[in-house]
Amino acid sequence: MMDFTLKEYRLLLKTLRARGYAGLTFAEYVKGERPERYVILRHDVDLLPANSLAVARLEKEEGMKASYYFRAVPESWDEDIIKKIAALGHEVGYHYESLTTCKGDMADAYRDFAANLTRLRALAPVETICMHGSPRSPWDSRDIWKSHSYRDLGILGEPYFDIDFADVLYLTDTGRRWDGFKVSMRDRIPAHQDRWCAQGLVYHSTGDIIAALQASTIPQHLMLTTHPQRWADKPLPWLKELVLQNAKNVVKREILRFAQDDKRDAQDDKRDAQNDKRGAQNDKDKV
Ligand SMILES: [Zn+2]
Repeated sequence: MMDFTLKEYRLLLKTLRARGYAGLTFAEYVKGERPERYVILRHDVDLLPANSLAVARLEKEEGMKASYYFRAVPESWDEDIIKKIAALGHEVGYHYESLTTCKGDMADAYRDFAANLTRLRALAPVETICMHGSPRSPWDSRDIWKSHSYRDLGILGEPYFDIDFADVLYLTDTGRRWDGFKVSMRDRIPAHQDRWCAQGLVYHSTGDIIAALQASTIPQHLMLTTHPQRWADKPLPWLKELVLQNAKNVVKREILRFAQDDKRDAQDDKRDAQNDKRGAQNDKDKV
């Protein structure tokens, strides 16, 4: 079966539910909710927010809540979609990158963070945040919290600081695979990854996770991070089309415009899309 489709995601949710996993938002976790088995479903809305809305609706149908983190950039920030996802009962959070946006200036970055948080709170309640980690950026926006406290702004948690990873297994689809921690610069938990590897808690495909759930060989407490732009039933979503057809001048111009807006992020997205393309090719080969 082709991976990273809505169909496969639905199967993952159905399996989680069948195995007794409650879907928690990150805010619920931070506030102390601890069912026996739970999965914190986190979504980083890096781009293509319409894909996130499709995932949010699917989760609603499957009776699972999740946390959606939006960036304060046009390719993520869609006010209509932000409100719709909140109205479905999901959590909305801020996917901040202020230190990158402000080129390392700490005071500017904190002001930028606070201003964007206020704008987001005009659309939905915001209790948690999560860093957007551009691998090509020399700055790590989590460094803002070396000299400021997000709690002063009424923020309850940041996954990298407020999850007990000794107790919660972290899996992310970074690189369009579930074992991308080998190549990811920032979306990983270095302090615990070696132990997880030693325990065999490493999964490549969504099907591998589903099989581990069915065999009860995966821990009872999970955080799963996905990038919904990657999950679509159409074999060639917009970004892949863009990369595959990049010989066409019009698309080249689009990439250049995109690159001028945010050169480093565009490179990351393009690299992701190439991974997606390779993944899609592998999927095709398996069929
Ligand atoms: Zn991100």
